[in-house]
Amino acid sequence: MHIDVLTLFPEMISGVFNTSMLKKAQEKEKISYDLVNFRDYSANKHMKVDDYPYGGGAGMVLTPQPIFDAVESVISAKQTKPRVILMSPQGEPYHQKKAEELSKEDHLVFICGHYEGYDERIREHLVTDEISIGDYVLTGGELGAMVVIDSVVRLLPDVLGNEESAPEDSYSTGLLEHPHYTRPADFRGIKVPDVLLSGDHAKIAEWRRRESLKRTYERRQDLIEEQDLSEADKRLLEKK
Ligand code: SAM
Repeated sequence: MHIDVLTLFPEMISGVFNTSMLKKAQEKEKISYDLVNFRDYSANKHMKVDDYPYGGGAGMVLTPQPIFDAVESVISAKQTKPRVILMSPQGEPYHQKKAEELSKEDHLVFICGHYEGYDERIREHLVTDEISIGDYVLTGGELGAMVVIDSVVRLLPDVLGNEESAPEDSYSTGLLEHPHYTRPADFRGIKVPDVLLSGDHAKIAEWRRRESLKRTYERRQDLIEEQDLSEADKRLLEKK
């Protein structure tokens, strides 16, 4: 997968790409990336990328020309038909399902805004997706783009080792994950549940399923309502 991030602040992003899982994904040649400062594409003699809003009002608006030119340039360099993703608090709320969908693509282009917003023609004529990472307003799209990129890349085949497998994670199963315990079995008198020390794999699997259902029921009833629970799951949930 190739990832282009269009930003006015590439230094906000490079550290994240060069750390932890995203760094490993590059070392394993699962991803490559370019940070594209769309100011470099400005046709304005002062390299301006924003202007006052028509109709007046506070804040500056990103102009269409540098962003259109930058996106067209990365598309023609790679000869692909990428998903062009606009980071925006007005976009579709981001979910694991969207991460799974994007992880099937070969080329993703992220547009990170700043200031008051974008000229609407960018939204209408250039992008394929508009994503919000939550109902709050950030200063720019960079942090949001990195949230999306991290969650997508960890789903690519062979990026995570077995020991950190993604299919068991919260949301991948449609539920929140069960609790985890590690050594020691007794920490300050607080004990690990006996079943986890029993060596009985069927019982451990049943306990984990029940805890996962219980945790989801207690914290995220909306997720439980979306599930088509089996009779066995319903019985486990009643035992909670
Ligand atoms: N005036 C805009 C509005 O009310 O919708 C908010 C602009 S915000 C200050 C600047 C940029 O930060 C946005 O263009 C977007 O790229 C990014 N941004 C802010 N909040 C975001 C969110 N919740 N999800 C994704 N991107 C966000």
